[in-house]
Amino acid sequence: MKTIQDWIKEYPLINELVATKEVFWSNPKYDPFKKNGNDLQFNENDVKDAEERLKRFAPYIAKVFPETKKRNGIIESPLVPIPAMHQHLSNMCEQPLEGEFLLKLDSHLPISGSIKARGGIYEVLKHAETLALNHGLLTVNDDYSILDSEKFRNFFSQYSIAVGSTGNLGLSIGIMSTKLGFKVTVHMSADAKKWKKDLLKSKGAMVIEYTGDYGEAVKEGRKQALCNPNCYFIDDENSQDLFLGYAVAASRLQKQLEDLNIIVNENHPLFIYLPCGVGGGPGGVAYGLKLIYQDYVHCFFAEPTHSPSMLLGLMTGLHDKVSVQDFGIDNFTAADGLAVGRPSGFVGPIIEPLLSGSYTVSDNVLFKLLSTLADKENIHLEPSALAAVIGPVKLWGEKQGMEYIKIHNLKDKMKNAVHLMWATGGSMVPKEIMHEYYKKGVMLSL
Ligand SMILES: *Cc1c(COP(=O)(O)O)cnc(C)c1O
Repeated sequence: MKTIQDWIKEYPLINELVATKEVFWSNPKYDPFKKNGNDLQFNENDVKDAEERLKRFAPYIAKVFPETKKRNGIIESPLVPIPAMHQHLSNMCEQPLEGEFLLKLDSHLPISGSIKARGGIYEVLKHAETLALNHGLLTVNDDYSILDSEKFRNFFSQYSIAVGSTGNLGLSIGIMSTKLGFKVTVHMSADAKKWKKDLLKSKGAMVIEYTGDYGEAVKEGRKQALCNPNCYFIDDENSQDLFLGYAVAASRLQKQLEDLNIIVNENHPLFIYLPCGVGGGPGGVAYGLKLIYQDYVHCFFAEPTHSPSMLLGLMTGLHDKVSVQDFGIDNFTAADGLAVGRPSGFVGPIIEPLLSGSYTVSDNVLFKLLSTLADKENIHLEPSALAAVIGPVKLWGEKQGMEYIKIHNLKDKMKNAVHLMWATGGSMVPKEIMHEYYKKGVMLSL
Protein backbone atom coordinates (compact mmCIF):
# COMPACT_ATOMS: atom_id res chain seq x y z
CA MET A 1 0.00 0.00 0.00
CA LYS A 2 1.39 3.37 -1.05
CA THR A 3 1.57 6.21 1.45
CA ILE A 4 -0.25 9.50 0.97
CA GLN A 5 3.10 11.04 0.04
CA ASP A 6 3.60 8.45 -2.71
CA TRP A 7 0.17 9.21 -4.14
CA ILE A 8 0.80 12.94 -4.07
CA LYS A 9 4.07 12.46 -5.91
CA GLU A 10 2.24 10.51 -8.60
CA TYR A 11 -0.82 12.80 -8.73
CA PRO A 12 0.03 16.30 -7.46
CA LEU A 13 -3.65 17.29 -7.68
CA ILE A 14 -4.21 15.20 -4.54
CA ASN A 15 -2.33 17.91 -2.66
CA GLU A 16 -5.10 20.35 -3.55
CA LEU A 17 -7.79 17.82 -2.65
CA VAL A 18 -6.24 17.22 0.77
CA ALA A 19 -6.11 20.99 1.31
CA THR A 20 -9.86 21.02 0.35
CA LYS A 21 -9.17 23.48 -2.47
CA GLU A 22 -11.43 23.58 -5.51
CA VAL A 23 -9.99 21.55 -8.38
CA PHE A 24 -10.77 20.61 -11.97
CA TRP A 25 -9.64 17.22 -13.23
CA SER A 26 -9.64 16.06 -16.82
CA ASN A 27 -9.88 12.28 -16.96
CA PRO A 28 -6.78 10.76 -18.63
CA LYS A 29 -8.62 7.45 -19.12
CA TYR A 30 -11.46 9.04 -21.11
CA ASP A 31 -11.86 7.06 -24.33
CA PRO A 32 -13.91 7.33 -27.51
CA PHE A 33 -17.16 5.54 -26.83
CA LYS A 34 -17.34 2.03 -28.28
CA LYS A 35 -20.91 0.96 -28.40
CA ASN A 36 -20.38 -2.73 -28.93
CA GLY A 37 -16.67 -3.00 -28.46
CA ASN A 38 -16.73 -2.16 -24.78
CA ASP A 39 -17.04 -4.79 -22.12
CA LEU A 40 -19.45 -2.95 -19.86
CA GLN A 41 -21.67 -5.13 -17.75
CA PHE A 42 -24.85 -3.52 -19.11
CA ASN A 43 -26.14 -2.69 -22.53
CA GLU A 44 -28.96 -0.77 -24.13
CA ASN A 45 -31.39 -3.62 -23.58
CA ASP A 46 -30.95 -3.42 -19.82
CA VAL A 47 -31.87 0.26 -19.87
CA LYS A 48 -34.82 -0.49 -22.18
CA ASP A 49 -35.99 -3.18 -19.78
CA ALA A 50 -35.98 -0.66 -16.93
CA GLU A 51 -37.85 1.83 -19.06
CA GLU A 52 -40.52 -0.76 -19.94
CA ARG A 53 -40.92 -1.70 -16.28
CA LEU A 54 -41.55 1.92 -15.35
CA LYS A 55 -44.18 2.08 -18.10
CA ARG A 56 -45.92 -1.00 -16.68
CA PHE A 57 -46.09 0.69 -13.29
CA ALA A 58 -47.27 4.03 -14.70
CA PRO A 59 -51.03 3.35 -14.25
CA TYR A 60 -50.39 2.45 -10.61
CA ILE A 61 -48.16 5.48 -9.99
CA ALA A 62 -50.75 7.81 -11.59
CA LYS A 63 -53.40 6.37 -9.31
CA VAL A 64 -51.57 6.56 -5.97
CA PHE A 65 -49.56 9.75 -6.62
CA PRO A 66 -52.04 12.16 -8.21
CA GLU A 67 -49.26 14.71 -8.86
CA THR A 68 -47.97 12.33 -11.56
CA LYS A 69 -51.29 12.22 -13.42
CA LYS A 70 -50.46 14.90 -15.94
CA ARG A 71 -47.56 12.79 -17.19
CA ASN A 72 -49.67 9.60 -16.98
CA GLY A 73 -47.70 8.16 -14.11
CA ILE A 74 -44.27 8.70 -15.63
CA ILE A 75 -42.01 10.32 -13.03
CA GLU A 76 -40.18 12.99 -15.00
CA SER A 77 -38.89 16.53 -14.47
CA PRO A 78 -38.90 19.74 -16.53
CA LEU A 79 -35.93 21.00 -18.55
CA VAL A 80 -35.73 24.79 -18.47
CA PRO A 81 -33.53 27.55 -19.89
CA ILE A 82 -31.82 29.83 -17.33
CA PRO A 83 -30.79 32.97 -19.27
CA ALA A 84 -30.39 35.26 -16.24
CA MET A 85 -28.21 32.73 -14.43
CA HIS A 86 -26.23 32.25 -17.65
CA GLN A 87 -25.48 35.97 -17.63
CA HIS A 88 -24.42 35.78 -13.98
CA LEU A 89 -22.06 32.88 -14.64
CA SER A 90 -20.52 34.78 -17.55
CA ASN A 91 -19.92 37.71 -15.21
CA MET A 92 -18.28 35.38 -12.70
CA CYS A 93 -15.98 34.15 -15.43
CA GLU A 94 -15.39 37.67 -16.76
CA GLN A 95 -16.08 36.46 -20.29
CA PRO A 96 -19.20 35.62 -22.26
CA LEU A 97 -19.89 31.90 -21.90
CA GLU A 98 -21.13 30.74 -25.27
CA GLY A 99 -23.90 28.27 -25.95
CA GLU A 100 -27.23 27.55 -24.34
CA PHE A 101 -27.66 26.91 -20.60
CA LEU A 102 -30.35 24.51 -19.42
CA LEU A 103 -31.29 23.27 -15.99
CA LYS A 104 -32.73 19.77 -15.53
CA LEU A 105 -35.09 20.09 -12.59
CA ASP A 106 -34.90 16.72 -10.84
CA SER A 107 -35.33 18.94 -7.80
CA HIS A 108 -38.97 18.98 -8.87
CA LEU A 109 -39.44 15.32 -9.67
CA PRO A 110 -42.78 14.21 -8.23
CA ILE A 111 -43.04 11.98 -5.13
CA SER A 112 -39.69 12.71 -3.50
CA GLY A 113 -38.18 15.85 -5.05
CA SER A 114 -34.74 14.57 -5.95
CA ILE A 115 -32.85 12.46 -8.47
CA LYS A 116 -33.48 9.52 -6.08
CA ALA A 117 -37.05 9.46 -7.36
CA ARG A 118 -35.51 7.78 -10.42
CA GLY A 119 -33.27 5.00 -9.12
CA GLY A 120 -34.71 4.57 -5.64
CA ILE A 121 -38.31 4.26 -6.71
CA TYR A 122 -37.34 2.06 -9.65
CA GLU A 123 -35.62 -0.50 -7.43
CA VAL A 124 -38.58 -0.71 -5.04
CA LEU A 125 -40.96 -1.21 -7.97
CA LYS A 126 -38.75 -3.88 -9.47
CA HIS A 127 -38.60 -5.75 -6.18
CA ALA A 128 -42.39 -5.51 -5.75
CA GLU A 129 -42.97 -6.74 -9.28
CA THR A 130 -40.60 -9.68 -8.81
CA LEU A 131 -42.37 -10.77 -5.62
CA ALA A 132 -45.84 -10.44 -7.14
CA LEU A 133 -44.86 -12.27 -10.35
CA ASN A 134 -43.15 -15.08 -8.43
CA HIS A 135 -46.26 -15.60 -6.30
CA GLY A 136 -48.54 -15.70 -9.32
CA LEU A 137 -50.40 -12.58 -8.22
CA LEU A 138 -49.51 -10.52 -11.27
CA THR A 139 -48.57 -10.88 -14.93
CA VAL A 140 -46.68 -8.31 -16.97
CA ASN A 141 -49.78 -7.80 -19.12
CA ASP A 142 -51.97 -6.72 -16.20
CA ASP A 143 -53.00 -3.16 -15.53
CA TYR A 144 -50.70 -2.50 -12.55
CA SER A 145 -53.20 -0.16 -10.92
CA ILE A 146 -54.56 -3.35 -9.32
CA LEU A 147 -51.58 -3.05 -6.95
CA ASP A 148 -53.52 -0.29 -5.22
CA SER A 149 -55.61 -2.71 -3.16
CA GLU A 150 -55.79 -4.28 0.30
CA LYS A 151 -54.91 -7.63 -1.22
CA PHE A 152 -51.55 -6.40 -2.50
CA ARG A 153 -50.80 -4.22 0.51
CA ASN A 154 -51.38 -7.24 2.75
CA PHE A 155 -49.16 -9.34 0.56
CA PHE A 156 -46.29 -6.82 0.57
CA SER A 157 -46.66 -6.25 4.33
CA GLN A 158 -45.07 -9.68 4.90
CA TYR A 159 -41.87 -8.25 3.45
CA SER A 160 -39.58 -5.48 4.47
CA ILE A 161 -37.18 -3.17 2.69
CA ALA A 162 -34.14 -1.51 4.24
CA VAL A 163 -31.76 1.17 3.04
CA GLY A 164 -28.89 3.32 4.32
CA SER A 165 -29.07 6.97 3.38
CA THR A 166 -27.99 10.56 3.99
CA GLY A 167 -31.62 11.51 3.40
CA ASN A 168 -32.91 11.66 -0.15
CA LEU A 169 -32.56 7.98 -1.00
CA GLY A 170 -34.32 7.18 2.26
CA LEU A 171 -37.17 9.50 1.31
CA SER A 172 -37.66 7.91 -2.10
CA ILE A 173 -37.46 4.34 -0.85
CA GLY A 174 -39.51 5.09 2.25
CA ILE A 175 -42.35 6.86 0.48
CA MET A 176 -42.59 4.30 -2.33
CA SER A 177 -42.26 1.22 -0.11
CA THR A 178 -44.84 2.30 2.46
CA LYS A 179 -47.26 3.19 -0.35
CA LEU A 180 -47.05 -0.38 -1.67
CA GLY A 181 -47.49 -1.82 1.84
CA PHE A 182 -43.93 -2.88 2.65
CA LYS A 183 -42.42 -2.43 6.07
CA VAL A 184 -39.44 -0.17 5.64
CA THR A 185 -36.41 0.72 7.74
CA VAL A 186 -34.16 3.63 6.85
CA HIS A 187 -30.70 3.69 8.39
CA MET A 188 -29.64 7.31 8.47
CA SER A 189 -26.25 8.93 8.84
CA ALA A 190 -25.51 11.65 11.38
CA ASP A 191 -25.67 14.40 8.75
CA ALA A 192 -29.21 13.50 7.64
CA LYS A 193 -31.56 16.43 8.16
CA LYS A 194 -34.19 16.26 10.87
CA TRP A 195 -37.02 17.22 8.51
CA LYS A 196 -36.20 14.25 6.31
CA LYS A 197 -36.34 11.89 9.29
CA ASP A 198 -39.61 13.42 10.50
CA LEU A 199 -41.20 13.17 7.08
CA LEU A 200 -40.23 9.51 6.80
CA LYS A 201 -41.61 8.69 10.24
CA SER A 202 -44.86 10.41 9.30
CA LYS A 203 -45.14 8.02 6.32
CA GLY A 204 -44.79 5.03 8.62
CA ALA A 205 -41.14 4.23 7.95
CA MET A 206 -38.86 3.17 10.79
CA VAL A 207 -35.88 5.49 11.06
CA ILE A 208 -32.67 4.39 12.77
CA GLU A 209 -30.13 7.12 13.40
CA TYR A 210 -26.37 6.68 13.52
CA THR A 211 -23.63 8.88 14.85
CA GLY A 212 -21.35 7.92 11.96
CA ASP A 213 -21.36 8.93 8.30
CA TYR A 214 -23.19 7.47 5.33
CA GLY A 215 -20.82 4.53 4.89
CA GLU A 216 -21.46 3.38 8.46
CA ALA A 217 -25.24 3.70 8.13
CA VAL A 218 -25.11 1.52 5.00
CA LYS A 219 -22.89 -1.05 6.70
CA GLU A 220 -25.14 -1.37 9.75
CA GLY A 221 -28.27 -1.52 7.59
CA ARG A 222 -26.77 -4.23 5.41
CA LYS A 223 -25.81 -6.26 8.48
CA GLN A 224 -29.25 -6.05 10.08
CA ALA A 225 -31.06 -6.85 6.84
CA LEU A 226 -28.98 -10.00 6.39
CA CYS A 227 -30.56 -11.47 9.53
CA ASN A 228 -34.04 -11.36 8.02
CA PRO A 229 -34.73 -13.46 4.90
CA ASN A 230 -37.87 -11.45 4.12
CA CYS A 231 -35.89 -8.22 4.17
CA TYR A 232 -34.56 -6.74 0.96
CA PHE A 233 -31.64 -4.38 1.34
CA ILE A 234 -31.25 -1.62 -1.24
CA ASP A 235 -27.52 -1.28 -1.46
CA ASP A 236 -26.66 2.16 -2.78
CA GLU A 237 -22.98 1.25 -2.88
CA ASN A 238 -23.48 -1.74 -5.16
CA SER A 239 -26.92 -1.65 -6.76
CA GLN A 240 -27.23 -2.24 -10.48
CA ASP A 241 -31.00 -1.71 -10.34
CA LEU A 242 -30.56 1.78 -8.93
CA PHE A 243 -28.06 2.50 -11.70
CA LEU A 244 -30.42 1.33 -14.45
CA GLY A 245 -33.32 3.29 -12.94
CA TYR A 246 -31.20 6.44 -13.23
CA ALA A 247 -30.09 5.56 -16.76
CA VAL A 248 -33.70 5.76 -18.02
CA ALA A 249 -33.38 9.54 -17.63
CA ALA A 250 -31.33 9.65 -20.83
CA SER A 251 -33.98 8.66 -23.37
CA ARG A 252 -36.48 10.94 -21.63
CA LEU A 253 -34.00 13.81 -21.91
CA GLN A 254 -33.42 13.05 -25.57
CA LYS A 255 -37.14 13.57 -26.20
CA GLN A 256 -37.13 16.82 -24.22
CA LEU A 257 -34.17 18.17 -26.19
CA GLU A 258 -35.90 17.26 -29.45
CA ASP A 259 -39.04 19.07 -28.29
CA LEU A 260 -36.91 22.18 -27.74
CA ASN A 261 -35.41 21.74 -31.24
CA ILE A 262 -31.98 21.24 -29.75
CA ILE A 263 -29.62 19.18 -31.84
CA VAL A 264 -26.74 17.16 -30.49
CA ASN A 265 -24.18 16.02 -33.05
CA GLU A 266 -20.55 16.40 -34.04
CA ASN A 267 -20.85 20.18 -34.34
CA HIS A 268 -23.30 20.64 -31.48
CA PRO A 269 -21.72 19.22 -28.33
CA LEU A 270 -23.70 18.58 -25.19
CA PHE A 271 -22.02 19.19 -21.81
CA ILE A 272 -23.60 17.65 -18.72
CA TYR A 273 -22.72 18.54 -15.12
CA LEU A 274 -23.82 16.02 -12.49
CA PRO A 275 -23.50 16.28 -8.69
CA CYS A 276 -21.95 13.05 -7.44
CA GLY A 277 -22.27 11.27 -4.11
CA VAL A 278 -21.75 7.54 -4.20
CA GLY A 279 -21.96 7.68 -8.01
CA GLY A 280 -25.06 5.68 -8.92
CA GLY A 281 -27.22 8.66 -9.89
CA PRO A 282 -24.74 10.62 -11.98
CA GLY A 283 -23.13 7.40 -13.25
CA GLY A 284 -26.44 5.99 -14.43
CA VAL A 285 -27.49 9.20 -16.15
CA ALA A 286 -24.08 9.61 -17.80
CA TYR A 287 -24.06 6.00 -18.93
CA GLY A 288 -27.52 6.32 -20.47
CA LEU A 289 -26.50 9.51 -22.27
CA LYS A 290 -23.31 7.92 -23.62
CA LEU A 291 -25.37 5.10 -25.13
CA ILE A 292 -27.42 7.69 -27.01
CA TYR A 293 -25.00 10.51 -27.85
CA GLN A 294 -21.67 8.70 -27.62
CA ASP A 295 -18.77 11.11 -28.20
CA TYR A 296 -21.04 14.12 -28.67
CA VAL A 297 -21.90 14.24 -24.98
CA HIS A 298 -19.30 15.31 -22.41
CA CYS A 299 -20.09 14.33 -18.82
CA PHE A 300 -18.56 15.94 -15.74
CA PHE A 301 -19.09 15.01 -12.09
CA ALA A 302 -19.20 17.58 -9.30
CA GLU A 303 -18.30 16.91 -5.66
CA PRO A 304 -17.88 19.02 -2.50
CA THR A 305 -14.30 19.96 -1.63
CA HIS A 306 -14.71 17.99 1.62
CA SER A 307 -16.10 14.81 -0.03
CA PRO A 308 -14.21 14.17 -3.30
CA SER A 309 -14.62 10.41 -2.98
CA MET A 310 -15.39 9.50 -6.60
CA LEU A 311 -12.59 11.73 -7.84
CA LEU A 312 -10.06 10.11 -5.49
CA GLY A 313 -11.29 6.66 -6.50
CA LEU A 314 -10.99 7.45 -10.21
CA MET A 315 -7.68 9.25 -10.01
CA THR A 316 -5.93 6.56 -7.98
CA GLY A 317 -7.80 3.72 -9.69
CA LEU A 318 -8.58 2.39 -6.20
CA HIS A 319 -12.35 3.12 -6.48
CA ASP A 320 -14.11 1.80 -3.36
CA LYS A 321 -10.79 0.67 -1.87
CA VAL A 322 -10.14 4.26 -0.85
CA SER A 323 -12.03 6.82 1.22
CA VAL A 324 -11.55 10.55 1.64
CA GLN A 325 -10.82 9.90 5.30
CA ASP A 326 -7.81 7.78 4.25
CA PHE A 327 -6.39 11.05 2.91
CA GLY A 328 -7.31 13.02 6.01
CA ILE A 329 -10.31 14.72 4.38
CA ASP A 330 -13.22 15.04 6.82
CA ASN A 331 -16.32 14.43 4.62
CA PHE A 332 -18.17 17.31 6.32
CA THR A 333 -20.34 19.25 3.89
CA ALA A 334 -23.71 20.97 3.84
CA ALA A 335 -24.39 19.16 0.56
CA ASP A 336 -25.97 16.19 2.31
CA GLY A 337 -26.68 14.12 -0.82
CA LEU A 338 -22.99 14.35 -1.62
CA ALA A 339 -21.55 13.67 1.85
CA VAL A 340 -20.07 10.36 0.83
CA GLY A 341 -16.58 9.34 1.89
CA ARG A 342 -16.25 6.20 -0.21
CA PRO A 343 -17.54 5.76 -3.78
CA SER A 344 -19.66 2.90 -5.11
CA GLY A 345 -17.77 -0.29 -5.85
CA PHE A 346 -19.01 -0.77 -9.37
CA VAL A 347 -19.81 2.67 -10.77
CA GLY A 348 -16.19 3.88 -10.85
CA PRO A 349 -14.91 1.10 -13.12
CA ILE A 350 -17.93 1.49 -15.47
CA ILE A 351 -17.62 5.23 -15.72
CA GLU A 352 -13.81 5.29 -15.96
CA PRO A 353 -13.62 5.43 -19.78
CA LEU A 354 -16.86 7.42 -20.18
CA LEU A 355 -16.37 10.38 -17.89
CA SER A 356 -14.76 13.52 -19.31
CA GLY A 357 -13.73 14.88 -15.97
CA SER A 358 -14.64 16.01 -12.52
CA TYR A 359 -14.39 19.06 -10.28
CA THR A 360 -14.87 20.05 -6.67
CA VAL A 361 -16.73 23.01 -5.22
CA SER A 362 -16.77 24.55 -1.76
CA ASP A 363 -19.89 24.78 0.39
CA ASN A 364 -19.69 28.58 0.38
CA VAL A 365 -19.89 28.64 -3.39
CA LEU A 366 -22.89 26.29 -3.27
CA PHE A 367 -24.76 28.65 -0.93
CA LYS A 368 -23.88 31.71 -2.99
CA LEU A 369 -25.18 30.03 -6.14
CA LEU A 370 -28.28 28.91 -4.24
CA SER A 371 -29.37 32.44 -3.37
CA THR A 372 -28.33 33.82 -6.77
CA LEU A 373 -30.37 31.21 -8.64
CA ALA A 374 -33.35 32.00 -6.42
CA ASP A 375 -32.99 35.73 -7.19
CA LYS A 376 -32.31 35.38 -10.91
CA GLU A 377 -34.60 32.52 -11.90
CA ASN A 378 -36.89 32.00 -8.91
CA ILE A 379 -35.72 28.38 -8.72
CA HIS A 380 -34.99 26.98 -5.26
CA LEU A 381 -32.56 24.07 -5.00
CA GLU A 382 -30.89 22.30 -2.11
CA PRO A 383 -27.14 22.94 -1.71
CA SER A 384 -26.02 19.68 -3.38
CA ALA A 385 -27.78 20.54 -6.61
CA LEU A 386 -25.86 23.78 -7.05
CA ALA A 387 -22.66 21.80 -7.56
CA ALA A 388 -23.87 21.29 -11.13
CA VAL A 389 -24.49 24.96 -11.79
CA ILE A 390 -20.85 26.05 -11.48
CA GLY A 391 -19.80 23.50 -14.15
CA PRO A 392 -19.40 25.77 -17.18
CA VAL A 393 -17.43 28.31 -15.12
CA LYS A 394 -15.04 25.52 -14.18
CA LEU A 395 -14.72 24.29 -17.75
CA TRP A 396 -13.89 27.74 -19.13
CA GLY A 397 -12.10 29.08 -16.09
CA GLU A 398 -9.64 26.29 -15.29
CA LYS A 399 -6.55 25.44 -17.29
CA GLN A 400 -7.43 21.76 -17.50
CA GLY A 401 -10.92 22.64 -18.67
CA MET A 402 -9.63 24.76 -21.53
CA GLU A 403 -7.21 22.00 -22.40
CA TYR A 404 -10.09 19.54 -22.58
CA ILE A 405 -11.84 21.84 -25.06
CA LYS A 406 -8.69 22.13 -27.14
CA ILE A 407 -7.73 18.47 -27.16
CA HIS A 408 -11.20 17.43 -28.29
CA ASN A 409 -11.40 20.09 -31.00
CA LEU A 410 -14.35 21.76 -29.37
CA LYS A 411 -13.21 25.37 -29.49
CA ASP A 412 -15.06 26.35 -32.67
CA LYS A 413 -18.10 24.36 -31.62
CA MET A 414 -18.60 26.00 -28.24
CA LYS A 415 -20.96 28.60 -29.71
CA ASN A 416 -23.30 25.72 -30.66
CA ALA A 417 -22.92 23.91 -27.36
CA VAL A 418 -25.59 23.12 -24.81
CA HIS A 419 -24.60 23.12 -21.15
CA LEU A 420 -27.00 21.13 -19.05
CA MET A 421 -26.78 21.30 -15.28
CA TRP A 422 -28.49 18.49 -13.42
CA ALA A 423 -30.32 20.06 -10.48
CA THR A 424 -30.57 16.98 -8.29
CA GLY A 425 -32.81 18.07 -5.43
CA GLY A 426 -34.70 20.76 -3.57
CA SER A 427 -38.48 20.91 -3.83
CA MET A 428 -39.09 18.91 -0.65
CA VAL A 429 -37.00 21.21 1.54
CA PRO A 430 -39.32 22.94 4.05
CA LYS A 431 -39.78 26.67 3.41
CA GLU A 432 -38.10 27.81 6.65
CA ILE A 433 -35.02 25.71 5.97
CA MET A 434 -34.81 26.89 2.37
CA HIS A 435 -35.00 30.44 3.69
CA GLU A 436 -32.06 29.76 6.01
CA TYR A 437 -30.04 28.46 3.05
CA TYR A 438 -31.01 31.52 1.06
CA LYS A 439 -30.02 33.93 3.82
CA LYS A 440 -26.68 32.20 4.20
CA GLY A 441 -26.05 32.56 0.45
CA VAL A 442 -26.96 36.25 0.52
CA MET A 443 -24.67 36.88 3.46
CA LEU A 444 -21.75 35.09 1.85
CA SER A 445 -22.28 37.09 -1.36
CA LEU A 446 -21.95 40.48 0.38
C1 LIG B 1 -28.02 11.32 -3.98
C2 LIG B 1 -27.88 12.67 -4.50
C3 LIG B 1 -26.91 12.98 -5.45
C4 LIG B 1 -25.89 12.01 -6.00
O1 LIG B 1 -26.32 10.73 -6.28
P1 LIG B 1 -25.36 9.48 -5.98
O2 LIG B 1 -26.05 8.32 -6.56
O3 LIG B 1 -25.23 9.38 -4.48
O4 LIG B 1 -24.06 9.80 -6.59
C5 LIG B 1 -26.84 14.29 -5.89
N1 LIG B 1 -27.68 15.23 -5.42
C6 LIG B 1 -28.63 14.96 -4.52
C7 LIG B 1 -29.52 16.06 -4.05
C8 LIG B 1 -28.75 13.68 -4.02
O5 LIG B 1 -29.68 13.43 -3.11
